[in-house]
Amino acid sequence: MTTEELRTSLLNAPKNGFTRITAQQRAEMEAYCKRYTAFIDAAKTEREATTWAVENAEKFGFRPLVPGMELKPGDRVYRNNRGKSILLAVIGKENLNNGSNICAAHVDSPRMDVKPNPLYEDSEIAYFKTHYYGGIKKYQWPTVALALHGVVYRKDGQVITVTIGEEESDPILVVTDLLVHLSADQMRKTLAEGIVGEQLNVVLGTEPIEGEGADLVKLNVMKLLNEKYGIVEEDFLSAELTIVPAGKCREVGLDRSLLGAYGHDDRVCAFAEMDSLFQLDIPNKTAVCILADKEEIGSVGISGMQSQCFETFMQDLCDIQGASLNRCFENSFCLSADVSNAFDPNFAETCDRRNNSQLNYGVSICKYTGSRGKGGASDASAEAMGHVRSTLDKAGVIWQIATLGKVDQGGGGTVAAYMANRNIVTVDAGVPVLCMHAPMELVSKLDCYETMLACKAIYEA
Ligand code: MN
Ligand code: MN
Repeated sequence: MTTEELRTSLLNAPKNGFTRITAQQRAEMEAYCKRYTAFIDAAKTEREATTWAVENAEKFGFRPLVPGMELKPGDRVYRNNRGKSILLAVIGKENLNNGSNICAAHVDSPRMDVKPNPLYEDSEIAYFKTHYYGGIKKYQWPTVALALHGVVYRKDGQVITVTIGEEESDPILVVTDLLVHLSADQMRKTLAEGIVGEQLNVVLGTEPIEGEGADLVKLNVMKLLNEKYGIVEEDFLSAELTIVPAGKCREVGLDRSLLGAYGHDDRVCAFAEMDSLFQLDIPNKTAVCILADKEEIGSVGISGMQSQCFETFMQDLCDIQGASLNRCFENSFCLSADVSNAFDPNFAETCDRRNNSQLNYGVSICKYTGSRGKGGASDASAEAMGHVRSTLDKAGVIWQIATLGKVDQGGGGTVAAYMANRNIVTVDAGVPVLCMHAPMELVSKLDCYETMLACKAIYEA
């Protein structure tokens, strides 16, 4: 053998995905990304994502799962978990004792939540107080266009949906930062301390209503909210209002190869799971799609991945087939579909380049996440990695390997550990992202498309 032949046969040489896809695949990729863009523009919170999922699942023939209902292969069911997360399934040809093929993503993203008692006036400016949700770099959030999304449970029992800042004619909201001219002290602080949590106050207005008192600007803002939504200040006590970046997903780069938007993490994987499930034919094993809430704060709570809501859904499916939930879990496979960090040459020193995902190299497969000696990771076995490798290769999916940063630099987690704890073989995989958790995150269209193909291959395995 020549050296070149040896090199080709012995060494692994990943290639940029653009050198590997056909013209037809490129067209499909663009069409897929248009569908994804429509979704992410409509779904900036877990509630909006769940609402979108229910509406579109029903268009594709999914019905609410009712305990004891008759189900045959190919039937499509879903369960809306209190409007904040959703489980969907396409019934397979095999009994659930043989297991199911699961894709699990999350639909919550880092943001600023409005506090329970949020509205105040200071120096004749009205504000909302916020408490950030998930891991954010606080200095990134002042002076960017923000929108208000959420629901208010009014005293009369009506639940009102609030959205301000997304229409061209809407006002936007903003958190202020200090002018550079007076920032001598601030500029000496660390990035973590330059803007602190209690400074993430959102400007709501400056015009006083006519009359006497020290609350005329606040009163004017409350009057405007009352006119539009019929709410009074006390109604904030039973509300879930959240501040997210305003605006739509945009193509990024002169070649339009990237998509820039708020909240790719992890709705980019959530959409990949859904889009492939909607197109799915009758699978051998039951295909299950999970869109979970609360991943960014530990997957806790009734709508998080640790919730028994998942067991209840799967138990209902098993009961209908006379299958055992434990057997089903034992024989199931889960792709924990969550984003990874794309290599950024501007911050090369934070990563091990040989083991980091890279834009346009396809869906990234992550053996383990965690931090400081793999702490908290669901470390997938060689066999589990082998299953994913052969399944994706067989389906012609472009994929790459990923780890999260260099050793001891930091780390992160996903829902993978909570699936694996249930005795389900689980592997992490997802779309590489630049500027993860920032008000604008970047992903490559090619990686988005390949992640959808990966989910499809797992459902069909
Ligand atoms: Mn995530
Ligand atoms: Mn995240």
